[in-house]
Amino acid sequence: MSQTSHLADPDRNPSFTKAIFSGEIREDLVFPFPAPSAADREAAAAVLDSLRGWATETVDARKHDHDGRFTDETRAGMAELGLMGLNIPEEYGGFGASAVVFNRVMGEIGCIDAALTVYFGAHQSIGCKGITLFGTEAQKQKYLPKCASGELIAAFCLTEAGSGSDAQAMRSTAVPSADGTHYVLNGSKIWISNAGFASLLTVFAKVPVEVDGKAKQRVTAFIVDAHAPGVSMGQPEQKMGIKASDTRTFTFENVKVPVDDRLGEVGSGFKIALEILNSGRLGLAAASTRGTREMMRHALEYAKQREQFGRPIGTFEMIQRKFASAAADCYASDAAWMVTSAMVDRGGVDFSLETASCKIFASELANRTANETMQIAGGIGYSKEYPYEQFVRDSRINMIFEGTNEILRALIALSALQQPGERLKQIGKAFKDPLRSIGAISGYIAGRAKRQLVKPEFTKVHPALKEEADQLAEVIHDLALGVESLLMSEGKRIIEKQFHQERLSNAATDIYLSVCALARATAALDAAGGDEAKAAPDLDCTRLFVAAAARRARRAVRALSRNQDARQKAVAERAMENAQLCPELEIG
Ligand SMILES: Cc1cc2nc3c(=O)[nH]c(=O)nc-3n(C[C@H](O)[C@H](O)[C@H](O)COP(=O)(O)OP(=O)(O)OC[C@H]3O[C@@H](n4cnc5c(N)ncnc54)[C@H](O)[C@@H]3O)c2cc1C
Repeated sequence: MSQTSHLADPDRNPSFTKAIFSGEIREDLVFPFPAPSAADREAAAAVLDSLRGWATETVDARKHDHDGRFTDETRAGMAELGLMGLNIPEEYGGFGASAVVFNRVMGEIGCIDAALTVYFGAHQSIGCKGITLFGTEAQKQKYLPKCASGELIAAFCLTEAGSGSDAQAMRSTAVPSADGTHYVLNGSKIWISNAGFASLLTVFAKVPVEVDGKAKQRVTAFIVDAHAPGVSMGQPEQKMGIKASDTRTFTFENVKVPVDDRLGEVGSGFKIALEILNSGRLGLAAASTRGTREMMRHALEYAKQREQFGRPIGTFEMIQRKFASAAADCYASDAAWMVTSAMVDRGGVDFSLETASCKIFASELANRTANETMQIAGGIGYSKEYPYEQFVRDSRINMIFEGTNEILRALIALSALQQPGERLKQIGKAFKDPLRSIGAISGYIAGRAKRQLVKPEFTKVHPALKEEADQLAEVIHDLALGVESLLMSEGKRIIEKQFHQERLSNAATDIYLSVCALARATAALDAAGGDEAKAAPDLDCTRLFVAAAARRARRAVRALSRNQDARQKAVAERAMENAQLCPELEIG
């Protein structure tokens, strides 16, 4: 199996999300819904089969949670199954799984034990992924075979006490030695998953450089031996959930890192970190989505057998509503990580905003679902004797790590605004010199008139889903017009306007997931020879999802011009100033 390029090229091939901000629907990126190759299907079946068999015998997620550690058999079993090298290329001793297969397997681990997913993901999705993507041939030969066998467990060290979301503000330094043989690494990293198991660390630190005679610091990535002199580790963090995942601080005191262990060029560290996280987020999305399915499996069984008022609670519509919305959301979320994984496998596609959308949606779906399953279970949901309270604790982290959902929302909105923003800037310049720029201005006016009059259309959606496709096309059209008006009124100030950024990214995520669901349902209909009754499970989920998502997106777009932003800001600022949420209810 070959390892395809995971590197994106935004200029050659703008992303689906960026295009919708300009009112274009890049159907070619989503349709047809990816059909895994025969090799991928065979690989996935083989790995999933052995994984399921082994997990049923060996893995006890509740014991892991209770003990706060994995059993030795669990970690040994993961390595014996070859899972630690699943996405490491075959030529370096791994399995060389495609993104589709890797994320499907990560999803399955998400069903088995959320903490184990973090162990698996921290090692491969982020821990040693930098070496696979950016390592030299010598680095790959030296480290990847040992990572693949599980002899070396990897961790990803980016976060510091003073720099979480604002990773660029890191203070760790790596100073070249006078003889040029090594860097001297100093600093501290916190919240490092796999810390207690790790031998190989991908560490980000600032290297001093001189630019135009001025001293600067450039974020750079390094491969660091976790057992090198000067590396020390804190105690395991006492966490709310994913307790068996070993999370600690690392401190580096004058650690000598050989120059050969620098990953990429000096100054390319931030790009490397982002690129690693971009694809890593998809695994988290797949795991959250399949975790949702598993949590609901417990709730469904319970709702079938628990009777109140003389009938199973699953026959009450308020309980049924919970199942139906989770089903529709899960269907779309599965469709989205699958479509996006296929983009990753294709290579040369800019997928960073789509992986962010997948991660935001799936992590919030899992968190919502965990709470819903607890509600369905009633009192026993709150008891430690049952799995529901662990679902709530374990699923919560996904909205925080690998980029908080707030940061990812800002990323989606601001990145997608770049292209229309650039167009408006050019046109702004043109208006300053209208005589010379008549061509550009008339081109813009014609384009704007066209955008207002001509609505984008879907051409690849099955006719049975025309109504849903039309609804979405309408929202995309309104979104593009809303974006243009917003940029004209806000200009550069948009960078500070997070009420709007949140709306834009929520709309973009709802639209992207809807289109992925339409692609999936179209494929299901085609496979059923157009027989709607046969494809009813797919059609119903898709219709439910698109109706709700389009409604949310429409509301978000409308609120770009009609909103309570000034009031929201005033209330929040007053609360911050007084350190009191709202006026006290005085009695007596
Ligand atoms: C269990 C666990 C495992 C982890 N594993 C790893 C790991 O393996 N490697 C690693 O490097 N890190 C890891 N992390 C760290 C994790 O990635 C960070 O916690 C996360 O990036 C957020 O950083 P922070 O905690 O400093 O929060 P902050 O950045 O301080 O954010 C606090 C809140 O403010 C919001 N916020 C911050 N800036 C903005 C903004 N500009 N606009 C709007 N809202 C904003 C955030 O969204 C968040 O809600 C882990 C964390 C946990 C809890």
